[in-house]
Amino acid sequence: MTTNLRIAIVGGGPGGLMLARLLQMRGVAATVFERDSHADERPQGGSLDLHAETGQRAMALAGLEAAFRAAARPEDQGDRLYDASGRLLFDRDGSGDNRPEIDRTVLRQILLDSLDPGIVRWGSKVDAIEPAAAGGYAVAVDGLPEHFDVVVGADGAWSRVRPLLTDAVPIYEGATLVEFGFDTARHPAVDALVGGGKMFAVGDNRMLIAQRNGHGHIRGYAGLRLDEAEARRWMEMAPQAVRARLRDAFVGWAPALTDLIDSGDFIGVRPLHALPVGLSWPTRPGVTLLGDAAHLMSPFSGEGVNLALADAADLAEALVSPAEWEAVAACEATMIARAVPAAEGAAAGLEVTLSSDGVNAVLDHYRERVAA
Ligand SMILES: Cc1cc2nc3c(=O)[nH]c(=O)nc-3n(C[C@H](O)[C@H](O)[C@H](O)COP(=O)(O)OP(=O)(O)OC[C@H]3O[C@@H](n4cnc5c(N)ncnc54)[C@H](O)[C@@H]3O)c2cc1C
Repeated sequence: MTTNLRIAIVGGGPGGLMLARLLQMRGVAATVFERDSHADERPQGGSLDLHAETGQRAMALAGLEAAFRAAARPEDQGDRLYDASGRLLFDRDGSGDNRPEIDRTVLRQILLDSLDPGIVRWGSKVDAIEPAAAGGYAVAVDGLPEHFDVVVGADGAWSRVRPLLTDAVPIYEGATLVEFGFDTARHPAVDALVGGGKMFAVGDNRMLIAQRNGHGHIRGYAGLRLDEAEARRWMEMAPQAVRARLRDAFVGWAPALTDLIDSGDFIGVRPLHALPVGLSWPTRPGVTLLGDAAHLMSPFSGEGVNLALADAADLAEALVSPAEWEAVAACEATMIARAVPAAEGAAAGLEVTLSSDGVNAVLDHYRERVAA
């Protein structure tokens, strides 16, 4: 392929921005369409740990390893597990692990700072992508089409690009997280509960999670099984109504734990969805996917962002390859295969954690990790 190809990347999340960065390093100025109106429009979510062979490798290829190391928090890799009575069953300081945490907002900003001005078009929600008569695709924002030779769907769970390649849609996984935020200065008890990383409290088909973020913030999640219609209702409810439902669901749990529900700043209701594990599609010249758009899974594997960054690294290589779409086809096969163990792990992790014996399953998992 040539460097004067016009490439549209739909979605300015970690995967899309990493692809834009790596293409820019190869002399290709892609256009990133991002629906957010600016980088701080909405909370980007909590802390992410980057793994050596995927996320960290991509950051190094992008020349951003030093920026990542400067912003990352290796001290926040610890794990704690409580049961519903508040008994601490497992407490591990993971500071020796090589999976440093970084806030999602900070990661996004590092990637944004590495791009030339004008690459990201903010406030640009792509509403249609149509094959063009002369080849390539018309990408429309607010009904105004623009021609591109290549379109990459990096637009996450509800991708507008994916339907060009497959009819598959994300399936609700029967579980929902309610997200809360805490400042450690205002919430010393939550601060103490979390320790140096993240804590899980697991009981009969319910869980509470709290994870340390940078700058004195903690993200918390209450997770439980809800049917899809009920999860949709919760998304429409006022925060105090959601909080009341959670209080009912977590009745009998230790007050030190349910304090997460009572005192956190409400952020949102997040039903968990996943694409079918191993989803593939026939390669179609001119359009491809990466990250969650290709292999959405629940967060239980902790691999989603790492896979998105690794996909971007492979795809950047393929898109500038002289072998054209053969290279992209090989890249798609690699990305699909790479995501399978993570997606299987995420589905199994959700299933065993939100079960009647979830706490023992999580304890076994932590012990196995320490022994490995
Ligand atoms: C609660 C939670 C916790 C998680 N924790 C972890 C973790 O610890 N570790 C980990 O590896 N992963 C984690 N993940 C998963 C991780 O967040 C995703 O896998 C990762 O963000 C995927 O990156 P992406 O670039 O593919 O998509 P996204 O991050 O979803 O980015 C997609 C971008 O596309 C934009 N967009 C969408 N539609 C359009 C459109 N039509 N036009 C223009 N722009 C559009 C969106 O605004 C967004 O900026 C977690 C996910 C959740 C929900």
